[in-house]
Amino acid sequence: MCGIVGIYNHPEAANLAYLGLYALQHRGQESAGIVSSNGKELFSHRGMGLVADIYTEEVLKKLPGLCAIGHTRYSTAGESSLKNCQPILINYSRGWLACGHNGNLINIQKIRAELEAHGSIFQSTMDTEVLIHLIAASRKSSLVDRIIEALLKVKGAYSLVFLTESRLIAVRDPFGWRPLVIGKKGSESDPGGPTWVVASETCALDLVEAEFVREVEPGEVVTFDKDGMHSLRPFPIPRKKAMCIFEFIYFARPDSHIFGRDVYEMRKGFGKQLAREYPVEADVVIPVPDSGVPAALGYSEESGISFQTGLIRNHYVGRTFIEPKDSIRHFGVKIKLNPVREVLKGKRVIVVDDSIVRGTTSKKIVKMIRDAGAKEVHMRISSPPTTDPCFYGIDTPNKSELIASSHSVEEIRKFLGADSLAYLSTEGLYWFEKNHGEWFCDACFTGDYPLAVEDTTDKLKLARSQ
Ligand code: 5GP
Ligand code: SF4
Ligand code: MG
Repeated sequence: MCGIVGIYNHPEAANLAYLGLYALQHRGQESAGIVSSNGKELFSHRGMGLVADIYTEEVLKKLPGLCAIGHTRYSTAGESSLKNCQPILINYSRGWLACGHNGNLINIQKIRAELEAHGSIFQSTMDTEVLIHLIAASRKSSLVDRIIEALLKVKGAYSLVFLTESRLIAVRDPFGWRPLVIGKKGSESDPGGPTWVVASETCALDLVEAEFVREVEPGEVVTFDKDGMHSLRPFPIPRKKAMCIFEFIYFARPDSHIFGRDVYEMRKGFGKQLAREYPVEADVVIPVPDSGVPAALGYSEESGISFQTGLIRNHYVGRTFIEPKDSIRHFGVKIKLNPVREVLKGKRVIVVDDSIVRGTTSKKIVKMIRDAGAKEVHMRISSPPTTDPCFYGIDTPNKSELIASSHSVEEIRKFLGADSLAYLSTEGLYWFEKNHGEWFCDACFTGDYPLAVEDTTDKLKLARSQ
């Protein structure tokens, strides 16, 4: 999973890209990169880790120019290294080109093998590099046509930002899997003209004080240059769209507006629907923070049962945390969460989370709530059982590791040690939309993949070859 940002026409373009990435940090914490353009040349700085740790004032000063793109990456297993950081930057026969990609291309193994057979040398294992090779190899005369020709050969999910010496280009795949929004700072009447901002989510626009204009539409190619914003729709329109419903459930930030909706409202709605579908007598509703908070609020509002903070999250747990070997072992989920005993003791507790993946975290949470004195623990999940892996850019594990792929709800309840367990129904997921089949991807809950993936048995095999 990744977050992308693009800035066109601002004297502090790299600084704005940095702020945008900071707001999109939840979309990837493995590595980050910014590429800027001063009109003649492109400059790049990429690093492993968090945006705020990679970029100092000194580093940002070395990224001059009025335009920039940025990327924050969450890599799939075994592929976390500097060579796989984005944006990818090349200087080829036609000049400079940088690219940041959010999504996952699903037919690149064959294309990559063909390119290698013709002498292409790859520096990374990223699917995005295949796309760059296709663009560089295209004989079309304009860059936009080369990008379109390359994209017509690949299949899968992509929201993209491209940067050249003088242009910013944003693209969203025809299925619309990943979000991408357009914002604007200032206006045409300003002396230097407006600043254009593109970003994965509107929370990035808010931080750089850009006004939300609209989303990049599925299948749209939007170019920003000295003459303003231009739009093309060069791809065949698929019968259905496939916007990722999991963005609403878990991935996007609740303060963002994507796919034409407010994420917070969506999440709260899942919780309300869950309360209608699976009510239970209880004394208190608590969320698993942070991802379960809006759904728990919705559940509480609909059921009339009091919302409380029953688990406190330590927000400073990072990847640098070292588990002391000899003193206390097996911290598990305790590092991250601690119960509030006053809220839980002697109570019948409804605990709301957004999803269960492996079930291991949820099991520890149920035990933690019980150990804190809860009389009953009722787990409510604001999405349907996660039965199938995602091949379109969300980092879920192989099918065999998803507990709901091989266990019934009752079996999972027993495994978790909960008094009751209920998931939102697939119909309930679409409380907001009648023709959901036309618009959303929900393959991780239904196994109904909008674009066929050839080999679904080993997700990592696919990831490894990216
Ligand atoms: P489990 O009980 O399956 O071990 O963990 C469930 C938790 O994982 C939930 O709180 C949910 O918010 C979280 N989760 C769901 N999808 C993802 C994901 O793609 N990445 C991460 N890091 N957590 C996830
Ligand atoms: Fe989103 Fe699930 Fe579809 Fe992946 S499979 S794109 S996570 S809805
Ligand atoms: Mg969570």
